[in-house]
Amino acid sequence: MPLSLLETHPRSDGTASDLIDFYTSLTTSQFLTEIGWDADRTALTISQEHPLLGWRACRSEGCTVGTRAKLGLCSSCANRFHASGLSEEDFLARGRTSRKSGLGRCAVAGCGRPWKTARAKLCHAHAHQQQQILRLPLQEFVAHPSVTPLLSYGPCAVVACLRDRDGTRSVYCHAHYERWKLRQKAGVADEVSCPGLVGGSQDWKAGSRARTEEVPARVA
Ligand SMILES: [Zn+2]
Ligand SMILES: [Zn+2]
Ligand SMILES: [Zn+2]
Repeated sequence: MPLSLLETHPRSDGTASDLIDFYTSLTTSQFLTEIGWDADRTALTISQEHPLLGWRACRSEGCTVGTRAKLGLCSSCANRFHASGLSEEDFLARGRTSRKSGLGRCAVAGCGRPWKTARAKLCHAHAHQQQQILRLPLQEFVAHPSVTPLLSYGPCAVVACLRDRDGTRSVYCHAHYERWKLRQKAGVADEVSCPGLVGGSQDWKAGSRARTEEVPARVA
């Protein structure tokens, strides 16, 4: 970083918001968009294909974790590979078979909600409609005329979390809600740290302005 930038750096008592404003003022909105900066979530998601900042995904089929390991496998897949006793070729051909949470959108076109699980590929509401009402295979279900996209509940309230809320029970994503419950059980969380939504999905923007760090961010 050039010294001139350090000299104009905000004083150390500046807020996180001041620092973000300061650093974003040093570049262009086009560059920030290009590198994947999400101002609302205060999170940076660099695409794998970016010519300068791009990264290499794990070689295991179906695994999207980045890696710089010589073997080309993330630590989880590398552990499974070493424990499998398979040749590298056979292991890679088998793909990732273990449970993987991952981030994913509901498979219904235009639905703004996260999938319930990677296996279900549908949000909670659509999974209920598929399994309990229409009882159709996924491909037929998503094409059914009565299946319509649903509004997002908005982003998780934990700073820099990339996940969305999966319902109106709290302002957190599923992973952080579960984490909050554990902390509550241990007596280290209170009701203020996990407020429920008052007016459902329409309130997410107001909630996102008051994002909290009460529950430490950790992508499971
Ligand atoms: Zn992997
Ligand atoms: Zn959905
Ligand atoms: Zn979250």
